[in-house]
Amino acid sequence: MRYVVIGNSAAGVSAARAIRAADPDGSISIIGEEPYPYYGRVLTSYYLGGRVNREALFLAEEDWYRRERVEAYLGVKAWGLDVDRREVLLEDGRWLPYDRLLVATGARPQMIDVPGKDLPGVFPLRTLDHAQAIRALIRPGDPAVVVGGGLVGVKAAEGLLGAGAKVTMVVSSPQVLSQILDAEGAEMAQAALEREGVQVLLGDDVVAIEGTGRAERVILRSGKALAAKVVVVGKGVQPNRDILLATEAIGRRGIAVNQFLETAVPAVYAAGDVAETWDRAWQASRVNALWGNAVEQGRIAGANMAGASLSYPGSLAMNSLVLGDLGIITGGMVRPPQPDQSQPELPYRVLSRKDSRRQLYRKVVLRGNQLVGVAAVGPRGESPAGVGTLLKYIGKELGSPLLEAFLLGRLSIAQWLRLPAWAD
Ligand SMILES: Cc1cc2nc3c(=O)[nH]c(=O)nc-3n(C[C@H](O)[C@H](O)[C@H](O)COP(=O)(O)OP(=O)(O)OC[C@H]3O[C@@H](n4cnc5c(N)ncnc54)[C@H](O)[C@@H]3O)c2cc1C
Repeated sequence: MRYVVIGNSAAGVSAARAIRAADPDGSISIIGEEPYPYYGRVLTSYYLGGRVNREALFLAEEDWYRRERVEAYLGVKAWGLDVDRREVLLEDGRWLPYDRLLVATGARPQMIDVPGKDLPGVFPLRTLDHAQAIRALIRPGDPAVVVGGGLVGVKAAEGLLGAGAKVTMVVSSPQVLSQILDAEGAEMAQAALEREGVQVLLGDDVVAIEGTGRAERVILRSGKALAAKVVVVGKGVQPNRDILLATEAIGRRGIAVNQFLETAVPAVYAAGDVAETWDRAWQASRVNALWGNAVEQGRIAGANMAGASLSYPGSLAMNSLVLGDLGIITGGMVRPPQPDQSQPELPYRVLSRKDSRRQLYRKVVLRGNQLVGVAAVGPRGESPAGVGTLLKYIGKELGSPLLEAFLLGRLSIAQWLRLPAWAD
């Protein structure tokens, strides 16, 4: 059996591992556009900030590919696909035949379309190359602007602070982290960022980047001009789905898959940030672009490519981050859709509680009586009251005493131990 995997990251490498475990004899090829062996993309902002060194990023040495007999085509892009002949076209003109193919091409950053966006000094933060280039440019005391207040924006700001930069964050929405927190939780997150030294500007947009030969300042819609040696854009990502664009596998945002992570194209599977999988909280197909989801989807897709019939139970959005002295954990549907004219009645209930004195914020979202979303914000040292455990209960009913104790930030270990066993 000839297996080809496009994408040498969380989903692709996890799939290659599962394939090799199930099929010791098959030939496995993995194609990666980036020239490096498998590395931890989630660590790139820590590398930027000097919290981990470059070597610590690598999760598989070159030796791993040799030992596992995985033929690695690194620094090579897969250009196209002939789904009838079952062959992948590499950018150097070679064709790789496959019996089973995994598309694990992840996502690419969405850039801003303003004058000056191509000036040296303007970067997204997605790859090791981006982190390296930013590190090479920034010096302690230099001004840096982060565009976007989402997860990558916040992580970029932390990385830049670690590198000694003076950071301003420009956020077009009226709050930071708008995908995962509502206004009350976001206020706490913003205050934590500000305590660390980030200047946060809400409700404003970058309209131009100016400079002679390189970025020197950013012009905002409000008319403000901000000095910037480095501009890091964190405005979300787009699934890299071009390779299947002309096929019936294309979904609303990414590549659509069934519960076995097969696409509509025979013998082609998809996993990770490029795949639209069943979301257990939203009860709909969504792209949940997270490392853990990518690893798990890769594992299941790989096993299925090698003959198993594992059903993927579905993904969940889950985020855990530390901003200075504040810890944030969220999971599932934390911002349910708002009723509108087309759907005046929606079945969601939101319960939340903020205790400013204890720096605690808790929120649960229920569909009927089922838990579908959780958010906990609190002091960094405070264990966020078993939120990780609570996430196992997404889609299940939890009694009100437990929810109440969680909202009050008073869920005891004894109560956790008494949680019903069916969640596992
Ligand atoms: C700064 C940062 C911080 C993050 N922090 C977190 C976090 O804390 N927690 C979390 O869960 N997630 C985090 N993420 C998201 C996480 O990194 C992704 O969900 C994860 O990397 C997805 O893995 P993947 O294998 O699907 O795709 P990717 O990691 O995107 O890898 C896909 C690979 O395929 C390659 N590729 C694409 N097209 C082709 C082609 N045609 N031919 C050959 N190769 C191709 C790409 O170059 C890339 O190397 C973070 C991301 C960033 C950028």
